[in-house]
Amino acid sequence: MSQRFPDALSMAAGRPYEGFFDIDAVHEYLRLYESHVRSLSGGDEALVRRTLLQYGRTKGIIHDLIAENLATDEGIHVDPESIVVTVGCQEALFLTLRALRRDDRDALITPMPCYVGATGAAALADMRVLPVAEHSAGIDVEELGRVVARAKADGLRPRACYVVADFANPSGATLDAGTREALIRLAEEQDFLILEDNPYGLFTPLGAEPTPTLKALDGDRRRVVYLGSYAKTGLPGARIGFAVADQPTASADGGTVLLADQLAKVKSMLTVNTSPIAQAVIGGKLLAHGCSLRSANTRETELYQGNLHHALKELARHFPEGGAPEVTWNTPAGGFFVVLTVPFPVDDDLLVHSARRHRVLWTPLHHFYGDGRPRRRIRLSLSYLTPDEITVGIERLAEFIREQSDVQSLPKGIS
Ligand code: PMP
Repeated sequence: MSQRFPDALSMAAGRPYEGFFDIDAVHEYLRLYESHVRSLSGGDEALVRRTLLQYGRTKGIIHDLIAENLATDEGIHVDPESIVVTVGCQEALFLTLRALRRDDRDALITPMPCYVGATGAAALADMRVLPVAEHSAGIDVEELGRVVARAKADGLRPRACYVVADFANPSGATLDAGTREALIRLAEEQDFLILEDNPYGLFTPLGAEPTPTLKALDGDRRRVVYLGSYAKTGLPGARIGFAVADQPTASADGGTVLLADQLAKVKSMLTVNTSPIAQAVIGGKLLAHGCSLRSANTRETELYQGNLHHALKELARHFPEGGAPEVTWNTPAGGFFVVLTVPFPVDDDLLVHSARRHRVLWTPLHHFYGDGRPRRRIRLSLSYLTPDEITVGIERLAEFIREQSDVQSLPKGIS
């Protein structure tokens, strides 16, 4: 859409802000990781070259650093052997679903609206998706229990529930600690896994105490497969993500292996191994910041928080309470997105009209339900813009919404 309408300001792309991109830092990170390998190998230059330049270990080479990163930033303590370094979180999602799917009775459960990458990966893995109705707290655990029970009664195997517990895409919702505990308890009782996808959790408002991740709360119960992404906290162009899959599972020869090793088996036939050069860049960034990306991202956190508050202020200015047209929105505590409810159903044709006539892009929420039925809701992305651009974008959006509210409130036949 952005290419088709280059004059349109995009509040659609959920991309990280580019103002802090720094090519020199990439060279520095590579050097840092190279020195790290050199010192670990006792100066074995052939090994340094091989580690960075040769085909490599299927599960990756920066697993130790990732384990340290998780311990430092999230209080998650895992064996590095249970980590698979992937080509973005997207590959981690696909590998996990593919490894969990045995036959067509296996199902993934997810609250709707859901990140399209998750439902898309399930479709690629040929895995059935069972929706859980939307809830303001992110997920209704009792309703989830009913969906699981119904699925089992229908002869299906609910293998996992996919959740973004912190600042979800697209809803912005964050699960509170009680909901997280209840979710893990239900997973234990009903014997399914939780796939915790956490690309935005690090951007908790500075000074606020983050809610522990599901994986941290899960401890030794091993109900949670944690799916990580360094796209927002490391560098999107490196395309590095990972899965922590420390669940013991049955192997083909009757023994036990980690789920991570099953993922590696799938990976060996998909991308073979994640680029060691790309891993070295992220590994170097981790080394440069004492394995804490929370502290490495204070500028980004401030920017994303600032953008979010600025957008909420601009929305309130254009759509005062009790005014017309009636437009409401949620108030996420962080993350990249805000969801607006408008007085008319929104489809892709309206998006094209908005881009052409009002020069602003956004995302119709129906894309996140997978049923193509237009909703009265749109997602705004705030991560890629400056506050001034957000001012202009919301101004244009308000014109579009006022116009459409007028058009759609006319009696039929007059348009
Ligand atoms: N999960 C969610 C919820 C996302 O929003 C995104 C990217 N927008 C991803 C996963 C994909 O992450 P990656 O770029 O690491 O593949």
